This record gives sequence, C-alpha cells and structure tokens, in this order.
Amino acid sequence: MEKSPSGIKLESWLVLAGRASEPGAPLNVPPIPASNFIIGNGREYARGDGTPSWEALEDIVGGLESGRALAFSSGMAAIAAVFDQLSAGAVVVLPDDCYQGVASLAAAGAERQRWSVQRVALDDTDGWIGACGVADLIWLESPSNPLLTVADLETICAAPRKPGAILAVDNTFATPLNQQPLDFGATVSVQSATKFIGGHSDLLGGVATTRDEALWQALKQSRTLTGATPGTLEAFLAVRGARTLALRLQRAQQTAMMLAERLEAHPLVSRVRYPGLPSHPTHAIARRVLKGFGTIISFDLRGGAEFADRVCQNVRLVRHATSLGAVESTMERRAAIPGQEHLPPSLLRLSVGIEDADDLWNDLDSAIRSAAS
Ligand SMILES: *Cc1c(COP(=O)(O)O)cnc(C)c1O
Repeated sequence: MEKSPSGIKLESWLVLAGRASEPGAPLNVPPIPASNFIIGNGREYARGDGTPSWEALEDIVGGLESGRALAFSSGMAAIAAVFDQLSAGAVVVLPDDCYQGVASLAAAGAERQRWSVQRVALDDTDGWIGACGVADLIWLESPSNPLLTVADLETICAAPRKPGAILAVDNTFATPLNQQPLDFGATVSVQSATKFIGGHSDLLGGVATTRDEALWQALKQSRTLTGATPGTLEAFLAVRGARTLALRLQRAQQTAMMLAERLEAHPLVSRVRYPGLPSHPTHAIARRVLKGFGTIISFDLRGGAEFADRVCQNVRLVRHATSLGAVESTMERRAAIPGQEHLPPSLLRLSVGIEDADDLWNDLDSAIRSAAS
C-alpha cells in the first residue's frame, strides 16, 4: 500500500483518508451500528468481517505507517493480539522501562509458562542487537513511559533476527507522525488510539499495523476469535480525532519544548526528562530517529512524594488525571500507581495539551511555588 496514494503529505492524508468516494455518499463514514449484513458481498458478521466505521480508522492509520492496519477495542487488545502469535516456550524481550500493562501481560504469560521474559535497557542498543538474535518477540516502546528514553530503532530494527521473529514497536508516544517503525524495519507497529489518535480522552481504541500480509491475517484471526473488536462509536470518534492529529501534535510539542526548558530552569525542579532537551540522555538518538520530540514531559521535584502530590492538587488548568495525548493537559505522580513504586517518588508525568503555553506555565509555576510555601 502506498503511503499517500496521491503523493500527499501525512498531514493531508489524515484529512483525506477513510472517506467514501461514491457520489451521494456522506463525506464522513457515519457510525454504523451493525452486527450483521445482508449476505452477498462477503461482509456478513461484523466480528470477523469488520464494519465501514472501523475500516475508515484502519485506512487512516495504515496510510500513516505505510502498512495495513487493524483496529482493536483498545491498545492492550492490539498488543495482546501480537503476543497471541507466540508459540509455547517463546522468548520475549521487553524494555526495562515500558508501559505497565505490557509488562503485566508478559509477566502473566510467563507465570503460566507460555513464554519467558527478558528485559533489556532501552538505551542499550548492543543489548537489543543481541536480543534480536535469540528472541521470538522483540518488544520495543520508544519514547518510553514514563522515563522518555528513546531507543535507536533505526539500528535495532536493522539487526539480524531469528527467523520468524516479530519485532514490535509500541509507537503510542511518538505517533506515526513522529516515528515510522515499519520504515525502520519493524514487523508491526502498535498504537493506543485512546491517546493521540483519538486525542480527546473520550474513547478506548487500538491499532496494529504491519506490511506482512500473513501477520495481518493472523492478527485479524486473533481479533475475530477473541472478539477484541472496536466499538462503532469509538471508531467514529477516533476517526474524528485523527483528522486534527497533526495540528494538535504540532501545537502541543511546541509548548512542551518551552515548558521543558522553563521547568529545567525552575529552582524547585531537580530534573526534567524530555527528549528535546540537550540534557536528555538519549537526545542525540531522538534527533536522529524522531521527527518531533513529543508532548510528554517527566520531571522530578526538589522534595518528596507529598510535595509532588500537593503540586498535583494545586494545578487548575492542567488536570490531575492519568493518560496522555489529549487536547487537555494532564499530570500525575507516577510512583503513586501500584506497580510503579520503583520510579522516583516525586516524578510527575505531564501530557501537554493545546492550551495557551503561557497559561500552562503560569499554572505549573504557581502550583509548584504554592506547594513549597
Ligand atoms: C495507554 C497505552 C497503552 C494501552 O492502551 P489502552 O488503549 O489503554 O489499552 C499501551 N502502550 C502505551 C505506551 C500507552 O500509553
């Protein structure tokens, strides 16, 4: 499949894709609440055959990544479908810092002896090249959650792999606008459409995209057999959200860079992790593999967990909430989450939205200052 059938940029593809072209058809594919269809054209039952509402989302994301996409009920459903491809005794390699749901899914499977799990530090490129030779599933997530380490996907994806191995990239934080894992040579790229694709904190969805037709068929079979299908309204909303992805991302990451610089100079902030800052440990890799540095900033405060909790209580414009990638800025203390106690106690993860940059800065600065006094 072509990246952009008429040679257009991804920003235009986001607006053009996933539409009907027959005269008289609505400009947007409407939400089609259908479980079954009149027999005759191959589309009979939605769980296995899909619906036009899901396919619009698949067309958009597939085109962004120059692959063939499959929409799922959530990011975790898309991820679980990839894990579902593994045979008994498979070796899975995960990053040291990775989305907790994925780490838990991998641990649960290891406990039942479905596979074994190894962890490699995301910035250990040589470690990943070694892992590619022995693993059946190489699972990468970059930039990572919540430490925002950037992996050298360009180098890792080009390393020789065990025959039949899957190299999967969780591309949620980067979005297909900032990073193209399939172009680097990844087998499959997954998105939590709940985040940037949807962009409005009002849906759960996931997408897996691949250029490997056999894998696409296998993922579709997994979706059909487990019933991990997207909701009709959710798919419609995800398409609606995707139309403005480029605008939202561009605006929010411009603001994120400004906020990261100001936070780094703040007397009550001890450390800022943002791939766009020269001080970030993997900044040089980020400059090479990412087209933009993203909208997520993690920062540590000069003070403990209670201080950080007070900052979260004090913000007004920034919402004290989990999740990321939406129009509204959200922030939370990650070590407060069960299973995340290994993180620095005062680390706050901020997802920058599309609000005015100075308003956001004033909100953060006054929340930090009043928490200290
Ligand atoms: C949110 C998220 C997921 C899981 O997606 P859901 O839609 O919540 O199932 C996976 N990976 C990353 C990086 C995420 O941020």
